[in-house]
Order: sequence, then structure tokens, then C-alpha cells
Amino acid sequence: MKQIKKLLIANRGEIALRIHRACHEMGIKTVAVHSTADADAMHVRLADEAICIGPPSATDSYLNIPNIISAAEISGADAIHPGYGFLSENAQFAEIVELHNILFVGPKPEHIRTMGDKVQAKRTAGALGLPLVPGSDGAISDIAEAKRIADEIGYPVIIKAASGGGGRGMKVVTDAEDLETQMQQAGSEAKAAFGDATVYMEKYLGNPRHIEFQIFGDGEGNAIHLGERDCSLQRRHQKVLEEAPSPIITAEERERMGGIVAKAMADMGYRGAGTIEFLWEAGEFYFIEMNTRLQVEHPVTEMITGLDLVREQIRIAEGHPLTLRQEEVQFRGHAIECRINAEDPRTFAPSPGLVKLYHAPGGMHVRVDSGLYAGYRVPPYYDSMVAKLIVYGATRQGALRRLRRALEEMVIEGVTTTIPLHRALLDDPEFQEGAYTIKWLEEWLAKQGA
Ligand code: ADP
Repeated sequence: MKQIKKLLIANRGEIALRIHRACHEMGIKTVAVHSTADADAMHVRLADEAICIGPPSATDSYLNIPNIISAAEISGADAIHPGYGFLSENAQFAEIVELHNILFVGPKPEHIRTMGDKVQAKRTAGALGLPLVPGSDGAISDIAEAKRIADEIGYPVIIKAASGGGGRGMKVVTDAEDLETQMQQAGSEAKAAFGDATVYMEKYLGNPRHIEFQIFGDGEGNAIHLGERDCSLQRRHQKVLEEAPSPIITAEERERMGGIVAKAMADMGYRGAGTIEFLWEAGEFYFIEMNTRLQVEHPVTEMITGLDLVREQIRIAEGHPLTLRQEEVQFRGHAIECRINAEDPRTFAPSPGLVKLYHAPGGMHVRVDSGLYAGYRVPPYYDSMVAKLIVYGATRQGALRRLRRALEEMVIEGVTTTIPLHRALLDDPEFQEGAYTIKWLEEWLAKQGA
């Protein structure tokens, strides 16, 4: 067992701050790395040391492996936490970190690699006993074969890029006549966006929910699940608001599916935090992908389980066993997270700039994960999410009331944010009932005239 003394945070924004906080509570010193655009960021100010790793462009800074490794060596960091996005699912980065005798706070590189290729991920998930969306067994290149599979599973089908991500590179085909052109287009778009033209086919589910399970493995064949999150509220396949537990999953379903997922991860020998994403329709789960990292929406799971997921990641990297056995995991109450973006709430155009006034809500069971402060300048180079507001309530209705109250208190002036969108969403009776699927938000936005 190792003890991490100094950890380098290879990320920025709220997640860098989140990791810093867990480290300081564990007595671990932190090293922030930052681009020139982030010199005044909150996590840079709070970290024990800060090292500039390049110019604003992420390719030259937060994705710059040589500079990040140099920063770790210069500062004498004995571990690196990649956060989410950037290098968090880069198997080569994980390998390089380990080659330098630095602990990588994340899964084994081979698992990052397997799950990063969606065709391989589906095959692995299937072999581990997870239910799959019906579709091609692996990549498809031949149009005759594609036609045969589509006829078998029935239209509509969806063509997806094996290396895809961020909701890009997908084509829905409703008619056999369009299959050939759509497949070609999907292939060339995938090649252009991801450098890999490989595509595969799935049945297109008409109106599913997005339900994902949080898991932890110790890398030695033990794994637990921490229940599900409902991330069905999406715009352009991007999550907007998440909650745990899902309003529609029963305790029996959670136990059954969670058990299947945890067993799969145990059999795989998975290490660290992971998320297994499913589409859910009419009582059935269909695996779509696995994320081999911490997720943006992890705080809702923390709220209902009482477990600090970043601390757990760090402890696993140090070689500790899992903190809890499955039977010790208890789900209590309900948590909701709003992603607050510096964007126009109607057009979603990014709105970077100077934050003139900032007031975070407080009170019982209200958590704000954000690097914002008055006088901070939101840079135009990165993701537009500037804060996460997370609330907890004994019941979903209680959490909704608390969320409304917290959103009333929250003030961000100088940059336009999506706070008004969340306020309006909370007033919607369908949302209040939890009766929504992955299509619901876009239809709702269209009705609002967005
Ligand atoms: P990415 O890695 O790009 O996020 P995913 O496979 O996770 O891609 O899919 C992202 C989103 O696309 C899902 O949350 C869902 O909204 C939609 N989607 C993906 N596969 C299907 C499918 N077979 N049927 C219907 N919608 C789908």
C-alpha cells in the first residue's frame, strides 16, 4: 500500500477544485497545472503549487502529455488525477504516467482502451452478461450485411461511430432506402471527427431514458455499485440536469441491475470509478457505453450514499480495499444537480467574460461546485460549464423545493448563464412528476421558443 503525499491535478475548473478539496481533507498536497488563460483560476489559487503548462489552447496545455509529466516530475508529485474530459480516458497517458512511477488515479490502461472503443466495449459488456441494444455484432462495412442486420432488428436503426463521443457521429435511419448513403456519410464524418471511419449499428430506441450505474472496483476482483443516476434531460445528447435515484427505477430493479453491473466489473477486475450507461425503455436496460472515469454528475451519488467518490478513487489508487461492502451501501433521500453554463439560455451561444457579481446559494443540503468568484474572467477556450448546483432532500418533492429556493438565491452577473432555464424547468408539471425521456427536453425547449 502506498501513501500519496502530493497529487497533480491534470484538469481545470470545478473538477480541479473538487479534487483539490478531497486531497486537502486527506492531508495530500496538491499541484495545479494550468494554461496561461487560467492563471487566476480558483483551483490554481488554492493549490499548494501551480505550474503553467502552456498557452490557452487545450491541445497545447491540458492535453500536452510531455508538459504534464514534466510538471509532475519537477514538483515531485507521486500521483496524477485526470478529472473528466481532457486526458481522463486516454489509455496512453495512463501508461506513460505509470511508466514514470507515478500513480494514476484511474482504471488500468487496458480497461480504458477496451471501453474507449465502443465496438469492443459492447462486445466486452455482452460477454460479461450485460444486456445490449440489439444490433450488429461489431463493426459493419459491408452494405449488404448492414441491410440484412437492419431488416432483422427492424427500422429505425442508428449508425454510430466506434470512436465516437460527446453525442457526435450518429445517424438515425428510418428507411431501408437511405441506409447506404447514411452509412457512407456516418463513416466519412467519423473519419473526419475521430480519425476512424469504423461504424456499427444499433436498433434506434424510440423514447428511452438514460440511466447509468456508478461502480467502483478494487482491481482485485471486488466491485460494488452505488445505484443509478437518471441523466435523461439532455440537449443535443449533452446532459443538462441529473438526479439520483431515477424517478422510475424501483428498489428491486436497482438491486437486480446493480448486482449484474457490479458482478461484471468484478469479473473484469476493474479498478477505480466507472459508469455503465444504459438506455432504459419499457422496463428493459440496454448497455450503450462505459465511462472509465469520474463523471460530472457524481455529486448526486455522493449525496444519496454519503460516500466521497474522489476520496474513494484516491484510496483505491493507493491500494486500499473498497471502503464499503455492497450490503453496507445505503441509499437515502433524493439529489438533483443542475449544470450551470455560461451560455445564453435560449440560443445556447457561449457567453464568456468578466463575472461582476457572484453569490452562491447556501443553507441545508445545498452544494455548489464552482470555481467562480466576482472578478473572475470566464475564458472562451473551454467548456462553458461554470457551476454545478446540487441539492438533497428526503424526498424528490423536497429536493425540488430546495432546488427552487437555491436557484432563487443564486446570482451570477456579468456573464449570461442557464440559471433561467433551470428555473423554468422546475415549474414544468411533467418535469415535477419525473415523466421525461431523452427527447423530452428538446421538445420542451422548442415549446419555449428556444
Ligand atoms: P456518446 O459517447 O457520443 O455520448 P452514447 O452511445 O453514449 O454516445 O449515446 C449518447 C446519446 O445518444 C444517448 O444518451 C442517447 O440520447 C442517444 N442514443 C445512443 N444510442 C441510441 C439508440 N440506440 N437509440 C436511441 N438513442 C440513442
